[in-house]
Amino acid sequence: MKSWEKNIRKVVPYVPGEQPDKPHMIKLNTNENPYPPAPGVMEALYAFDVDRLRLYPDPEAKPLVEALARKYGVDPEQVFVGVGSDDVLAMSFMTFFNSDRPILFPDITYSFYDVWAEEFRIPYEYVPLDAQFKIQKEDYYRENGGVVFPNPNAPTGELMPLADIADILRHNQDVIVIVDEAYIDFGGESALALLPEYENLLIVQTFSKSRSMAGIRIGYAIGSKELIRYLNDVKYSFNSYTMNQLTLSLGVAAVEDEAYFQETVHKIVTTRERVKEELRGLGFVCGDSRSNFLFVTHPRLSAEKLFEDLKSEDIYVRYFRKPERIKDYLRITVGTDEEMDKMLDFLRAYLYAGA
Ligand code: PMP
Repeated sequence: MKSWEKNIRKVVPYVPGEQPDKPHMIKLNTNENPYPPAPGVMEALYAFDVDRLRLYPDPEAKPLVEALARKYGVDPEQVFVGVGSDDVLAMSFMTFFNSDRPILFPDITYSFYDVWAEEFRIPYEYVPLDAQFKIQKEDYYRENGGVVFPNPNAPTGELMPLADIADILRHNQDVIVIVDEAYIDFGGESALALLPEYENLLIVQTFSKSRSMAGIRIGYAIGSKELIRYLNDVKYSFNSYTMNQLTLSLGVAAVEDEAYFQETVHKIVTTRERVKEELRGLGFVCGDSRSNFLFVTHPRLSAEKLFEDLKSEDIYVRYFRKPERIKDYLRITVGTDEEMDKMLDFLRAYLYAGA
């Protein structure tokens, strides 16, 4: 090691899913939405005045914050926006998790949590999911420096009832509890209803999944005015202009088209439920995912080999080597009906050939 290297902050980075760009591939590996963004987004894009790029964007991201506040029936001071929910979550870790006690999150969950904890030197402990891959709320009834979990959880898709989240909050009133609702629109009940009761609750959502805009990078948090003020203080001490002019315009257009949003979410949920049953019919074990992906295993197949064999047909799904408990599982994003049918055809032939 060179002498200057000892002062460098070394991190083992998060590894995002592959982003191959092949013309006919079926891309089911990063939980993107297969449908285009709302028509109003295209209109806002054409109407965008390029001259506005001369100016810095509004550091408060007011148009977007206000559109989200209207949508969720909260005060604009309760809304924070960032460059995807990854940015919002990273800021939140930095702002809210500053205790000597470990923060708690599931052992099988979004694999960015431990990366941020390491990066910001936050002590943490994994809390094992039960044998059915469910979060046991009682495991979070102990001293800690904060709590974070996705609901539905990723990559399992398992949804925790709101009553259990309320119980976790009741037992954790001295710390901040972050509920990462990246996938909540696909069939869960948001913890928004708990906000009036718990000022230590922060809810994080994203435009990347249910709003088909992973490429624009918009995430947001909703919480008490106090929490949002603390988050903004940290953001302004880092980078005031996180949301660019174009993103702000397109983001507002997406939030305002409620009908299109409902329609695409409904299509994905319908496809998900059909594919769940078809996969079970092929012998896959498939939990009751309430997200836009399925988490599956097959008693006769190696997940790693199936992942590679699907890939060689240009069907991309996600395989996690770690932790050990999920090495036989694949996470499959719900695509269009046509895409799912092609995947199912491949799987039928694959099983028939006795792979
Ligand atoms: N939380 C969870 C649970 C996720 O799966 C993802 C997607 N990788 C994110 C947050 C981040 O999504 P984005 O930054 O695109 O909003």
